Amino acid sequence: MTLYFCGHPFKYELEGICKLFFPLIRFTHVFDPEGPVPEGDFVRTIREKGKEQTRLCVEVSLGGASRSREAALPNTLPEYEKECERVLCVELYRLLSEWLGIQPSWGILTGVRPVNIIQRERAAGRPDEETARFLREEYLVSPEKLRLAFTTADVQSGLLADLPERSYSLYISIPFCASRCSYCSFVSHAITTRKATDKIEEYLALLCQELELTAQAAKQNRLKLDTIYIGGGTPTALSAAQLKQVTDAVSAYFDVPSAREYTIEAGRADTITREKLEVIRASGAGRISVNPQTFNDDVLRRIGRRHTAAEAVECYRMAREMGFDTINMDFIAGLPGDTLESFQHTIEEAIRLSPSNITVHTLSIKRSADLFSEEGIADYVKTNVTDGMTAFAREALLAAGYRPYYLYRQKNTIGNLENVGFAKPGAESLYNVYIMDEIQTILACGAGGVTKLVSGMKDPASGKNPIERIFNFKYHFEYIDRFDQIKTRKEQVTDFYANQEK
Ligand code: SF4
Repeated sequence: MTLYFCGHPFKYELEGICKLFFPLIRFTHVFDPEGPVPEGDFVRTIREKGKEQTRLCVEVSLGGASRSREAALPNTLPEYEKECERVLCVELYRLLSEWLGIQPSWGILTGVRPVNIIQRERAAGRPDEETARFLREEYLVSPEKLRLAFTTADVQSGLLADLPERSYSLYISIPFCASRCSYCSFVSHAITTRKATDKIEEYLALLCQELELTAQAAKQNRLKLDTIYIGGGTPTALSAAQLKQVTDAVSAYFDVPSAREYTIEAGRADTITREKLEVIRASGAGRISVNPQTFNDDVLRRIGRRHTAAEAVECYRMAREMGFDTINMDFIAGLPGDTLESFQHTIEEAIRLSPSNITVHTLSIKRSADLFSEEGIADYVKTNVTDGMTAFAREALLAAGYRPYYLYRQKNTIGNLENVGFAKPGAESLYNVYIMDEIQTILACGAGGVTKLVSGMKDPASGKNPIERIFNFKYHFEYIDRFDQIKTRKEQVTDFYANQEK
């Protein structure tokens, strides 16, 4: 499909709207074409500035039929460029929505963090009713999504107010998994060969060195440890002894008891053993996750998970018996082979097990491309099954006493839907809230880790705290081969804080 942009530069947002309705379709972009456009499927968006008014027009041609809509704006509007972009998006959304019979529920809001809009408006003193009206009428957000975003903002407000000064979270990446799930979009290596297993020893030795350097950098810059998160990959894909090597290094170099939160993602049931849970318990980590993704065994098979629903439940029970009371369970809406009924059963079963945290993700459409046929995807978008699944999860979890406390939208999810962390009151993960809001420094160690250094001073223009990022190499073999560069890059932490104090 060709996207024509005439008289304006709003490619990014308008293409985002097209992707909501035509997922997986490749677009060709043409700016200010001369003469008539060739026949075929296209979306043309036009801005024509007259003497006093600007004409904004959208035209869509699909399978030989065509439709158009238009609006006008005075040239003297205070936020003229922004309004032109918004109105073109609204017109395009309305045209496609009426034509195709689909109503993506976040309207024309394409950003990743809708809750931040609410927080920003609250900080500026705008009443919630006004913000809600503006999001509903000008950005076409559905009442359900508004309710979700406002409830999340309410729960977050207390957690955000609690942020200690000059604090940081420590993130440690274990980029290995027992095997690769077919929907995975993370950088993770399946340790199914001897060659891969051998690399783990080398990786862990360097990771421990990086932990030591990181602790030194934190000390030198008078940073206070707030939360620790060991993720991946699957940390429990390591053996119990290897896992202990990592947790021992954390205890040796960091003041673990001073951290408010310590999480280790256990993840897949086929990697969790009593011995590994004992290592986690002894490390002082109080939070783990056991991620079933679904309680439907057929779906588990289809996505390449090498465990059953019953085994995931078994792991959860074992962790509870061993004294873990803050356990997160991850689920995914929209997996291949899953139906609304089977997803409902999954959520009901999760509620019955009553973990402190339940996270509901939406399947990334990039992965869906590998998992579904093209007709399957088209059908999915049309029937809105995933939207129905997330709606069911939201209502059932709210009714069971869980509250949404972090929410983000992943690009390329079906219908640009959201991932939501639900928790029982008091069980919210601070780390998840702080990384989502980008308000706390994260010192990251290991392959794929991204250190985010958050300035203590707000930029007056954007109202945000500027962030500097330091990227570790993405893959474990690059991390091993170029570890000298990882060490050099750590010096940027001290440079950053020295600059802050100037
Ligand atoms: S367990 Fe998670 S990180 Fe590992 S392959 Fe599966 S989805 Fe990817």
